[in-house]
Amino acid sequence: METILKEGQKVNRIYLSAPDVSNLEREAVIKAIDSNWIAPIGPDLDAFEEEVASWTGMPYAVGLSSGTAALHLALVLLGVGPGDEVLVPTFTFVPTANAALYVGARPFFVDSEYSSWCMSPDLVRVALEDRARTGKLPKAAMVVDLYGQCANYSQLQPLFADYGIPIIEDAAEALGARRDDAPAGSFGTYAAVSFNGNKIVTSSSGGMLLCSDPESASRARKLSTQAREEAPHYEHKEVGYNYRLSNILAAFGRAQLATLEKRMARRSKIRIRYEEALAAFTGVSFAPVSIGSKPNWWMTCITVDPRIAGISVSQIQKSLESANIESRPTWKPMHLQPLFSGSQSYIDGTSEQIFRTGLCLPSGGGMSDDDVARVIDHLVSMFNMGA
Ligand SMILES: *Cc1c(COP(=O)(O)O)cnc(C)c1O
Repeated sequence: METILKEGQKVNRIYLSAPDVSNLEREAVIKAIDSNWIAPIGPDLDAFEEEVASWTGMPYAVGLSSGTAALHLALVLLGVGPGDEVLVPTFTFVPTANAALYVGARPFFVDSEYSSWCMSPDLVRVALEDRARTGKLPKAAMVVDLYGQCANYSQLQPLFADYGIPIIEDAAEALGARRDDAPAGSFGTYAAVSFNGNKIVTSSSGGMLLCSDPESASRARKLSTQAREEAPHYEHKEVGYNYRLSNILAAFGRAQLATLEKRMARRSKIRIRYEEALAAFTGVSFAPVSIGSKPNWWMTCITVDPRIAGISVSQIQKSLESANIESRPTWKPMHLQPLFSGSQSYIDGTSEQIFRTGLCLPSGGGMSDDDVARVIDHLVSMFNMGA
């Protein structure tokens, strides 16, 4: 169905995951400016680190300029470098795999399990047995908590532990989620969270590296501020980066984090409304939620079987766009990306199937009930026509 807009008629654009910002953030930033903590570090950064650490159950957190920077530093801290391999889920956003390239390592890919859309423990076992036979085990494993749901750690952790392979948890999308009663961010040696503009908690841009020991945290602080040695002058022994989060952005992020419970509840309610509205249509499924899993509901994703629904996700995306509603295909798997052509991968078709049939629906907590109704009306009329 096309929504025909008459000339001069305007409907507001509904975004996929627009930042949900209130007066709290405005006041927090002004307070930070007035307190004169403009220079990168400051009390809001310290407090933001402590608050994120407590949400994620990790003892140490280092505020960084992005989640990508956190993934990069995690690999540096583990000593991953040229000639090493890193195991990465194929179904993810590209920064997970890029981090391996930043340190000169090679990523190789493992497919998803359907029940969480995250890394498949069965295929990890196949991959590690195969690697062990050839004597070349990965130096680290990145595990991604996809679309706000934690991966299957009760099965993944013992597998990696058997081979002594450390886990880096990419919890960029999953702050606030839980699995088997443990919080997202607590499952690896290191974890990364993101405060990019489209995430559930944003600092406009930013991220954090979570560490289980104080030495790693202080090394990460040093590496993220040009790796300056203790000396009265500027002394350098190793490569550093300019990756630190600023105090002003941390003030913004803190104000967002203070309402994380409410943000999750709002996004959950949006998903429930989609589920209720589309329940009657065969051929439409929602991203599954695993047993023991409590997602943060960051993104509502559906899959559509065009043979049953009578309409494909690309048709739906186009039609939503004509009504000024943003939607997106699910991540295109890394093993299909030209950037990683030739990389080894352990694939069973799950992520390719989700990519072909998957669509992310507007999920931003700032959407009004009317906005949600507008998206739903449009989807319902499309599925009615398809059926
Ligand atoms: C957003 C995201 C990142 C990167 O975070 P930035 O803060 O944007 O650098 C990494 N991995 C996943 C899965 C993400 O969704």
